[in-house]
Amino acid sequence: MRKITILGSTGSIGESTLSVLEHAAALGEANFEVVALTANTNVEKLAAQARRVKPQFIAIADETLGDALKSAVRDLEVETGAGPAAVEEAASRNADWVMAAIVGAAGLKPTLKAAMRGADIALANKECLVCAGDVVKAAVKSAGGTLLPVDSEHNAIFQVFDFDQPNRVSRLILTASGGPFRSWTREAMAEATPAQAVAHPNWSMGAKISVDSATMMNKGLELIEAAHIFPIAPDQIEILVHPQSVIHSMVEYVDGSVLAQLGTPDMRTPIATTLAWPERTPSPSPRLDFAEVAKLTFEAPDIERFPALRLAREAINAGGVMPAALNAANEVAVASFLGGRIKFLDIASITEQVMDRTVGQNGPASLSTLEDAIAADLAARRLAEESVAAKAAA
Ligand code: NAD
Ligand code: MG
Repeated sequence: MRKITILGSTGSIGESTLSVLEHAAALGEANFEVVALTANTNVEKLAAQARRVKPQFIAIADETLGDALKSAVRDLEVETGAGPAAVEEAASRNADWVMAAIVGAAGLKPTLKAAMRGADIALANKECLVCAGDVVKAAVKSAGGTLLPVDSEHNAIFQVFDFDQPNRVSRLILTASGGPFRSWTREAMAEATPAQAVAHPNWSMGAKISVDSATMMNKGLELIEAAHIFPIAPDQIEILVHPQSVIHSMVEYVDGSVLAQLGTPDMRTPIATTLAWPERTPSPSPRLDFAEVAKLTFEAPDIERFPALRLAREAINAGGVMPAALNAANEVAVASFLGGRIKFLDIASITEQVMDRTVGQNGPASLSTLEDAIAADLAARRLAEESVAAKAAA
């Protein structure tokens, strides 16, 4: 019997995870018990999910919604909690496999709690690796769990990476769809609306990652994520635009062989991989129809139109608190764009301003503890808020 917790169960990844679990269970392939589910504000959806999978505990991050949650599940036998501490408690309960699918640095503390207890961590929440990768990896390792990458690119690489001979890997090729503005000019992007930015051509996802795909910061975050997960230097990680999102990423070896993982753009495939790893379990995702796909195309990314890619390289090269600063500034800027306070191109320029202001006399400060990460995240958020206010007033 597998004990499962889903942090961020009401989101796109959370819902896909439930779908994989229910599919496998209906086929008699999975024997699981849900320990805990968590959400930010969506009481109704969390209550509906509790009805579906009968968890022991459900937590809502918004403290003010505790009573609403209680009353929504008063006919069920489930414990409830509210506030960030309740989300951390959910993460601390005894699951063997925890899906980390909270969006943003808000997922860092709960993910760490689960890691420190030795659970296997299915990691969708890339921001927590970008913010505090060394801290998260050390926690997973010392408690004896395994970090299983859910992000489709990293999941692809995880499946074809020869961890026994990492020095025989010459290159990782992270594929990128290019997002909704792949062929837009900078002038057109300057006027892009939130609705246009979240309309991803291939993937159906939460709003924040959808905007990140439009700026291509998503691929920048994934570059930093990949450098944490795989034993390879950042300059051996290349980004390649592949608009069909069929090849989810590739590993090139020193003999010239390139191994890839392919599939339809449906997160239920990588989620199922992490759920069953090192075995396999069926997933309800649609199958690839190669004749229908017909053509796979590739192009180099355009750093001029998508400066977020340059910023991510700069952050990884600078090291220390810089990736955390990039991530926090981007989170603030994306939320401000979605809230109508700034324009689309401001997202990258605000992130760059914050990064410029994060370099101390001897480069960025170091980051080795959770406290360092939280301090770096908060400092960058404050700087980003200043930049947003200046842009909004201009
Ligand atoms: P989403 O916005 O659909 O869902 C986010 C979840 O986090 C929700 O359950 C929400 O209630 C919860 N949440 C938000 N803020 C919170 C807070 N402050 N405290 C506690 N809980 C909070 O996002 P998503 O698309 O499911 O993405 C989740 C994570 O997975 C992100 O880090 C994203 O980058 C990553 N990811 C998503 C996809 C995808 O296809 N959706 C693919 C790869 C990686
Ligand atoms: Mg991805």
